[in-house]
Amino acid sequence: MANTTASIITIGDELLIGQTIDTNSAWIAKQLNGIGVDIIKRVAVGDNREAITQALDRAIAEAGIVLITGGLGPTADDITKPLLCDYFNGKLIVNEEVLQHVKDIFARRNRPFLERNMKQAEVPDTCKVLFNPMGTAPGMMFEKNGSIIIAMPGVPFEMMAIMETAVMPMLKEQIVSDAIIHKTTITAGEGESFIAEKIQDIETALPAYIKLAYLPSLGLVKLRLTAKGADAVVLDAEVAQWQQRIVQRLHDIVVAMEDISFEQITGNLLKEKKATLCLAESCTGGYISHLITQVAGSSSYYKGGIVSYLIEIKENLLGVSEDSIVQNGAVSEVVANQMARGALQLLKADYSLSITGILDKEPVAGEIAEPGTVWMAVSDGQQTIAKKFRFFHDRQRNKESAATMGMLMLWKFINGKLTA
Ligand code: ATP
Ligand code: MG
Repeated sequence: MANTTASIITIGDELLIGQTIDTNSAWIAKQLNGIGVDIIKRVAVGDNREAITQALDRAIAEAGIVLITGGLGPTADDITKPLLCDYFNGKLIVNEEVLQHVKDIFARRNRPFLERNMKQAEVPDTCKVLFNPMGTAPGMMFEKNGSIIIAMPGVPFEMMAIMETAVMPMLKEQIVSDAIIHKTTITAGEGESFIAEKIQDIETALPAYIKLAYLPSLGLVKLRLTAKGADAVVLDAEVAQWQQRIVQRLHDIVVAMEDISFEQITGNLLKEKKATLCLAESCTGGYISHLITQVAGSSSYYKGGIVSYLIEIKENLLGVSEDSIVQNGAVSEVVANQMARGALQLLKADYSLSITGILDKEPVAGEIAEPGTVWMAVSDGQQTIAKKFRFFHDRQRNKESAATMGMLMLWKFINGKLTA
C-alpha cells in the first residue's frame, strides 16, 4: 500500500450534540498508530447524507485508508449503509453468510426472525464483507481512487471486534513500509576526493535505490551506503555486496565495516591481534585512557596509562631524561619517544602510545614548541615512531582531535602502515 495515511469519520447526531462521546475514533487512531499508520484527520458528522458524502469525498482525496463508524444498523436513522451503497455504485444484496449469522443470533436469543431483519444481512455488492462476531451489522470494505474505505458499526465493542479480527490483520499485511538499510565503511588517512577517484566506477554502477554518502571527519572518511526497498533481507544482502566491492578496492585504508567509534576500532584491532596497550599522556590528561575504557571489555587489552603532566613525572615515572627536556623542550620528538618506551617498560604492554603537546592557542612559558603543537609516539619495544601534529582550535577540540589522531597513528603502526 503506497499511502499509509488514515482519516477517521464517525457518524451520528448523538456525537454532535455530545450525548455520546466519540471514543471510537480515539481507539481506532491508537490502533493504527501502533502499526505505523499516520492519522491525518478525525471528523464527526451527523446522520446527514450531504455531510457524510462530503466527508467521504474529502477523506478519500486525502488519505489512503478511510475508517467510518456508525449508522450501519437497520433502523430508519441508520443511513450509512444505503448511502455507501449509492456512493460506491452498488446495489444491496443479501449476503448468505451474514444472513445465517443473523439468524443464528436471533435463534440464540429466542427471538422471531422477521422479514425486516433480512435487511441486516444486506450489503452493497461492491463491498467486501468484514464479519462481525459480536453483532448483526457486518463491516464493509470498499475501494476508490486507490484508497480503501472501511465502514463499521458504531457500537464500540462490535467495532473493536471487527478491527481486531478483520481490519488490523489485513492492514498489517498490506502496510509493508519500505525497509531502509545503512552500511558504513570507515576509512582512515585519505581525503574524500582521493577516495571518490578510486571508487568512481563502483559509485556510477550503483542502482538508483542505493545511495553513497561521504562523511569526512578528522583523519577519517565514512562511506555510508543507504538503500531503500521492499524486502529487507534481499536489500541487506545486496548492499553488503556493494560494500564488499568498495572495501576490496580501498582495502589498505579501511579501518571498519560498521559505524563505530575509533576507540572501538582500536579495541577490536587489539583483540584481534591478542595484544595489549598502555598509554603515556601529557596534554590529553588521561582523555585517551578515558575513551579506550569507554568500550566494554577493554580490560582484556588495555593495561593502563600514566598521566605524566609535569616534567618531574615524565622524568621520575617514565624515565625521560632531564637533558632531553632542557635541549628540546617537553613537547618534542625525543621526549615523546622516551615517554612511549618508558610506559612500555613500566606497564609491560605490547604497544604504547605517548602524547605531549600544547593544546592552547597561547604560548607556554619556557616551551620551545609553538601553540597547537603535539608530538605523539608509538612503540612496540623494538621500533618507536614519533609524529608531529598541529591543531588550531580551542583546547577542548584540540584534545579531541589529538586523541583521534593518536588512535589512528596506533592503528597504522599495528597494521604496519606507519612509516617513520
Ligand atoms: P447498530 O447496528 O448496532 O445499531 P450502528 O452502526 O447503527 O450499529 P449507531 O446506531 O450509530 O451504530 O450507534 C450505536 C451506539 O454505539 C450508539 O448509541 C453509541 O452509544 C455508540 N457509538 C456510536 N458511535 C460511537 C462513537 N464514535 N464512539 C463511541 N460510541 C459510539
Ligand atoms: Mg444503530
